Amino acid sequence: MDRQKTILIVEDEKNIVDILRFNLQREGYRTWEAYDGEDGLSKAQAEKPDLILLDVMLPKMNGFEVCRALREAGDNVPVIILTAREEETDKVLGLEIGADDYITKPFSMRELIARVGANIRRTSMAAPTATAAASAMAVSNNLSINTDSHQVFRDGQAIDLTQREYELLTFLASHPNKVYSRVDLMEQVWNYGYVGDDVRTVDVTVRRLREKIEVNPASPAYILTRRGVGYYFSV
Ligand code: CA
Repeated sequence: MDRQKTILIVEDEKNIVDILRFNLQREGYRTWEAYDGEDGLSKAQAEKPDLILLDVMLPKMNGFEVCRALREAGDNVPVIILTAREEETDKVLGLEIGADDYITKPFSMRELIARVGANIRRTSMAAPTATAAASAMAVSNNLSINTDSHQVFRDGQAIDLTQREYELLTFLASHPNKVYSRVDLMEQVWNYGYVGDDVRTVDVTVRRLREKIEVNPASPAYILTRRGVGYYFSV
């Protein structure tokens, strides 16, 4: 059996923390709590949770600063940003700085649990399903993926990707030259049944991924756009 997954809740509104804790524990998760950004960052680093639910407006250090600090320290833990309202800039900024997902308050507990599951499941599935044959996937001349260690190399240099960026790259690279729409990618990589207008998430993640793996992100060689259709991995 899997060990019990732990979720760090970083949120300054006690009633929201209470309802999150109650529902997450009922789903079988262990929970940690932090009521300000600084405490959230130090608990994230000390406790190594499997996922972080991160509010944006927090005392001492806001959620974006916490997420940025984690990514700068090389921590790729899945992060779901809790935005206070339907604020497009919050969503995009959150994704730009390396969050994996966001959810808008007020959220339905059912949707939140589904998103937590989608973001955690991918991470925990990765290790046991990696077979010897799949461990090293040379995807192009200069780019390679090691699916055992979850590392990506370009010209022998390791590239630091978030979980979601890694999954998007691996998915596209394992179906070379096949074009996927943003809705396809939301379903296949993000694991969402209902996507609504969240396809914007795909664009931001592709852009971030290009900035990391491409020699010239403005003129990508690996992940290409088929205008009006979607994205594909070019070989
Ligand atoms: Ca808050």
